[in-house]
Order: sequence, then structure tokens, then C-alpha cells
Amino acid sequence: MAKKSRTKYIFITGGVVSSLGKGIASSSLGVLLKSRGFKVTIHKFDPYINVDPGTMSPFQHGEVFVTDDGTETDLDIGHYERFIDENMSNKNNTTTGLIYQSVINKERSGKYLGKTVQVVPHITQEIKNRIVNVTNDKNGFDIIISEIGGTVGDIEGLPFLEAIRQFRLESGRTNTLSIHVTLIPYLSTTQELKTKPTQHSVMRLREIGIQPDILICRTVSPLTKDMKEKIGLFCSVPSSSVIEARDVSSIYEVPLIFEKQGLADIVLKHLRLKSAEPNLKKWKGLVRKIKSLEDVVRIGICGKYTALRDAYKSIIESFVHAGVENNVKVDIKWIEAECLEEDNSYKELKDLSGILIPGGFGERGIEGKMKAVKYARENKVPFMGICLGLQCAVIEFARNICKLNGAHSSEFKKNVKHPVIDLMLEQRGVKDKGGTMRLGAYPCILKTNSKAYEAYKKVVISERHRHRYEVNNDYREILEKNGMVFSGLSPDEKLVEIIEIKNHPWFVAGQFHPELKSRAIKAHPMFREFVKAAKKYRNSKRKKSRTTEKKAVSNK
Ligand code: GLN
Repeated sequence: MAKKSRTKYIFITGGVVSSLGKGIASSSLGVLLKSRGFKVTIHKFDPYINVDPGTMSPFQHGEVFVTDDGTETDLDIGHYERFIDENMSNKNNTTTGLIYQSVINKERSGKYLGKTVQVVPHITQEIKNRIVNVTNDKNGFDIIISEIGGTVGDIEGLPFLEAIRQFRLESGRTNTLSIHVTLIPYLSTTQELKTKPTQHSVMRLREIGIQPDILICRTVSPLTKDMKEKIGLFCSVPSSSVIEARDVSSIYEVPLIFEKQGLADIVLKHLRLKSAEPNLKKWKGLVRKIKSLEDVVRIGICGKYTALRDAYKSIIESFVHAGVENNVKVDIKWIEAECLEEDNSYKELKDLSGILIPGGFGERGIEGKMKAVKYARENKVPFMGICLGLQCAVIEFARNICKLNGAHSSEFKKNVKHPVIDLMLEQRGVKDKGGTMRLGAYPCILKTNSKAYEAYKKVVISERHRHRYEVNNDYREILEKNGMVFSGLSPDEKLVEIIEIKNHPWFVAGQFHPELKSRAIKAHPMFREFVKAAKKYRNSKRKKSRTTEKKAVSNK
């Protein structure tokens, strides 16, 4: 067991370019520290003015990750949860907007009476409060990792860096640690790695008053001993603390790569913490498995934001986890829903062993999604619907099976003849857009003789939501009479949470987002069963085509 001591703080900044994988670096360090028995959490500061990412388009920001307590957060929070297998909350993501909102509210209520409210010290104090506030967990944390979004040198990041400088000064050198994640670009013309951008980035950080203790260097090729020494010399970091982060095929390899270079031990030495040997058995098993998978199952994701993969980050990762538990690699085929609208050949869908319709907002591509549902239903291709995906499945079923012509969601059309999907009662009259959807974890009761129960193997489950619309209860009877099964309901039975259809090998959709609860070492039951069904479907299709081939040969 780790020796109990006061909470230690690690700050992770980024330099040179954005998208360096600071989130993965933070999560990976979290895994290594947790594997040594420490109680760890990770916190992200996002220097934009939105109070949370909930009002941003997925094209701007990628996926909005929702925590159990209903906070709409940055997608990195998803990585934190998946890697360190801990639930995050509203304490784990802080934006500039949130900081300013809180300071302005305090100013209005007279908390700073008589004072001029300024970035330093008031905004920086609020930031420092948020760093510590993560600790207000029942049991407390041994180590808090704070990742700062953006790149050193950005104007909007300055108050956060200034707050960290103050925090480090006030907390003492051995209680905090600064890690700078940077890029060592490779110039193909001269065939060399360049350290100058890193030197400059560290220079910017030092100008602000932060001397990094460790550098994590993203690079496409290995850093030689000489290079590490050069980087160390220019950046005032021991060369042993220059960690190489080479591009890898799976993000889950990163903790092991860091471990090999002794990252956690360097961190613990600096923080004066002693620990037991790391227990990375499960993690090593996971990586071994991911790297050895050869069997491939193709699943199509038919959505509206397919041009930006980050919009579906948690779904992509859920398929990795579910693949591992089914001994297959899930090959995702991206299908832009709008493209299906004009095409009646269904050729895009024919090579698939499973079809997934993810969550989404707005009408664009909706009829294409409906076509994908119809194809899956009629051809008995395993189907999974997530949130809007469930709504599409209900609309398609109402139109084509219940013969309710004009069935639709009132989200997409005014005066719908059959609003089988309608605004939830509690949502009527809601005008504000930020943080006002049905958000976070809600319990759901499963019917025991259902595919859902087969997956979860328990009656009461809890899943995370982010939506305003729901199945309209006025249509439950007709949908049920025609073969739709409401296998998951809210405890008061007023809300449909899971639907299935009879006479289909696997057609399950949830009004919630299961992808938000899948973990690296624990695949989500719905994804696991979906991939299992897809594999089964693929195998039976193969068998069928082999028999047809054989028959053709013997008939010759
Ligand atoms: N737009 C739909 C709603 O608000 C679905 C939302 C989603 O898929 N997350 O109900």
C-alpha cells in the first residue's frame, strides 16, 4: 500500500502544437500511479469562455462527455475514466467561463465589496480553489493530476499558468510537479529531429515562472541519448526526465511505454512518495490482446459527424474494449447518413456485420439513418441504437411496421401527424440551452426475458443520458402490439429507456449513451453483446457463402 501523506499535485501543460495527446499522457500517468496503490484523480482546465462544452458543435469540440452527475465535459474526461476506471464529476473539468461565472456571481453578491476584481488575484484564486476542490472527495486523493488545455503561449491560457505558478510557490517544491508535453518534429528533407520548438516552448513556460520537472516528447522516431541530453541541457531538465513518447498503434500502450522509461518512479521521487511495486498485470494483458487480434468484424457507424472522428471518441473506444472481450478487432466503417438518402442500392451497408446509429441533434441525414435502420431490421443485421439511434428505430418501426404514415420526431418537424418521439414533459418551456437537457445517470429497470437483460445480467442498471426527446407514451401500445419490446423503463415506467424488436437476432437501442461507461479493462455489456452478435452474424454469412460455393462447384 502507498504510504499516506498529504495530497500532491501534478500539472501537465502542452507546447509547440495542440492535439499532442496530453489527455492520454495524463490518463497514462494516472494508470501508473493507481497501479502503485495511490488514490488518483485527473482534472482538466479548458481555457475557453463557454461555461461547458455542451453548447458547442461536435465539429468544433468533438464529443461532449457526460459524467454520472450530469456534467457536460471535455472528451478528455472520457479518457480519464476509461484509463483509471474511476467516475469523474463536475469537479473534474473547469473552463474559463466557469471561473469567470463564479467570480462574477461572487462580485454581484458582494463578496469582494470594496475591491477592484482582477485577473490576479481573484481569477487566479478561483482557479487555485478549483485545483484543490477536486480533493473534496469523501476519502481524499493522494495525487491530483491537472491537465491544462491548449498550448503554452496562448493568450487565454495565461491565467491558468499564473495560478499554477502561485500554487507551486505556495505548496512547496516537493508537493507539486510540472510536466510539459511537447513535440520534436521530424524534418524529412534533412532527415532529422528538431529540438528548437521544444526549447522555445519551455522558454515561454519559464518566462511565466514555471520550470518543468519532466518533459514528455512526442516524436515519430527514437530520441538518442545525445538528443535527450541536448534537450535536457537547454530546458534545465535532467536527461533522465526527458521521456520519449513515440507514436503507437494503440493509445492503451502508452502507460506501458512510460513505465518502461521509469516515468512514475521519477514522479514519485520528486514528490517524495514511496510506493509498492506496480500491479500492471491486467493492463499488460489488455495491450497484449489488442496487439494480437487478427480476426476482424466490420461495423458501420451511420451518423452526421463522421468527418470528425473525435465526435464519436467514446464509441470508438467502446468498440476496442468490446472487441477485446470477443477476440476480434472491430473495423469501423464510417457512413455519412446524408449519403444514404439518395442511394437506394444499400451498397454501403452490404459488407457490414453490424450497424450502429449514434446520438445526434438536428435533421440533417435523418432519413439516411432511417434507411440504415430499415436495412438492419429487414436483413436481420445486428443493430444498436444510441439515443437518437433509438429514436430513429422507433420512427422507422412506426412508419413501416405499424403503418403510421407521417410518423416522426417533433424535434425535426412542426405539426407532426404521429409524433412517436416527442419533447419530454420536463423539457417543455425550457428556453436556455446550456446544461438543460436530461443529463447524467438515471436508473433503468430491465425486463428479464430480453436481450438487454442477457447483456447486463441484472434488473436495475444505471446509464448516462443527454437528450430532450423521448418515446411518446401515446404510441407505446401500438408499437408493442406490432412487436416492439420496451425492455428497459424508468422506475416509474413513464420513460422508455431501451427498445428491442422480436424475431431479430440482435436489435437493441438505448435512450442513453452506453459508450460513456465503457472502460479499458471492462467493456460495456451492450457493446460487448452487440459485437458478439455481429461476429455471429459474420460467421453465419461466411458459412452460407461457403455452402453456396460448394454447391456451385458440385453442380459443375
Ligand atoms: N436530439 C435528440 C434528443 O434531444 C437525441 C439526442 C442524442 O442523441 N444525444 O432527444
